[in-house]
Amino acid sequence: MSTYFDHDATTPIDDHVLQAMMPYLRDQYGNASSRHDSGTRARRAVNMAREQVAALVSVQPAQVVFVSGGTEANNMFVKGIAAYLKPSQIAISAIEHPCVMKPAASLARTGWKVRKLNVDANGTVNLEDVEHAVSAPTGMVSVMLANNETGVLQPVAQVAEYARTARAWMHTDAVQCAGKVPVDFEALGVHAMTLSAHKMYGPKGAGALVVHKRLPIKPLIDGGGHEGGLRSGTENVPAIVGFGAACELAGSRMATLSDHTAALRAAVERGLAECGATIFGSRAPRIPNTTYFAFKNIDGESLVIELNKCGFAMASGAACSSTSTEPSATLLAMGVDPDLARGAVRLSFGADNTLQQVEEFLIAVANVVGRLSRLAAVAV
Ligand code: PLP
Repeated sequence: MSTYFDHDATTPIDDHVLQAMMPYLRDQYGNASSRHDSGTRARRAVNMAREQVAALVSVQPAQVVFVSGGTEANNMFVKGIAAYLKPSQIAISAIEHPCVMKPAASLARTGWKVRKLNVDANGTVNLEDVEHAVSAPTGMVSVMLANNETGVLQPVAQVAEYARTARAWMHTDAVQCAGKVPVDFEALGVHAMTLSAHKMYGPKGAGALVVHKRLPIKPLIDGGGHEGGLRSGTENVPAIVGFGAACELAGSRMATLSDHTAALRAAVERGLAECGATIFGSRAPRIPNTTYFAFKNIDGESLVIELNKCGFAMASGAACSSTSTEPSATLLAMGVDPDLARGAVRLSFGADNTLQQVEEFLIAVANVVGRLSRLAAVAV
C-alpha cells in the first residue's frame, strides 16, 4: 500500500460515513419519491442529509440542492444563471478550476464577456482588480474559497461586497475548504456555493449547490422535478446519506483535523525547504493540509512518477494533454517562471497521515531529487 498524500484529489470514505451509507446500499433501496414506507424511509434519509449539509455551512436545509458533485454544481451556477440574464460580463478569478473556467468560456459564444480577475504573487485575488472589473456591467462573479493547487484562501467576503455593489450574482467554489476550515454562507455574503462529498471523506458522486432564496437559476437537467425542480433525476440516496454523514463528521472534528494536517505540513515544508524547494503561496493564508512546491530543473511529472515508485501518492501541477505538458495556469497567473512551474507538485495531507510518513517521504525526496538533478546536469 502506498502512502497517500493526495487528499485534495479525493479522500477515502470514512468508516462512520460508510456505516451510515450501508443500509441504503442494501436493504433500504426505496426510491425517495415513492409513496410507500420504503420510499418514505429514503426520503427521510435524504432530508436528514440535507440538514447535515446545511448545518456545516450555516444555511437552511431548503437552500441545499443535491447534485452529482462539484463539477455539476459549478456548471449549474454559471449556465443556470446565464439562462436568466441578458449577456453582460462574468468575472472569475484567473485561478478557477476548469469546471468554472470552461462553462464561463462557453458563455462567450452567446455574447458574454469573460473577465479574468488577477492574482498576486502569493496566489490571492487582487481586490483592486475586482473593483476595477465590476465597474463594467457584470451579471455574475465566481471566486473560489481556496485554490485547489496552492490551497491559498481567497478574500471571498470582500469580493462579494464588490459584487453586491455591482448587483451581480456571487458564487464561490468551496470544494477545497469544506471540512478543512469553517465555512459560513451568510458571513461570506455569497448567493451560491459549491460543495463536493468526496473531498471530505464522503463518497464520489454527491455534492451540492447551496443557493440563496432569490437566486434565479434554470436547471441543467429537466425531468421529474426533483430537488425543487432544480435538479431532476432519482436521488442517489446512499451517496447523499454519505455526504450528510461526512458533513457531520467534518463539523465535529474540523479543529483536530486542521491541527493534525497543519503539523504535518509544517514538518514537510521545513524538510522541503532544506532540500532547496520553492514553496508556492506559503506567505498567504492557506487551507491547513496543502503544500505546493517545485525544485528548479526537476520536472514535476517525473518527480511524481519516481516518488510513486517509492510508494508515495501525490499530484503534479502540470496539465497534461496527449501532446504536451503545460505548466499550471494558476502558477503562471501568479507570475511564476514557466520552467519552475513545470516542476510543481502538490501534497495534501489527511486524517490518517503520520509524522513518520512525512519523515520517510523526506528521505525519499532527497534521494530522488539528487538522482534527477544529476541526470538533468548530464543532459545539459
Ligand atoms: N472545484 C474544485 C476547486 C476542485 O478541486 C474540484 C475537484 O478537483 C472540483 C471543483 C470538482 O469537483 P468534483 O470532483 O466533485 O466534480
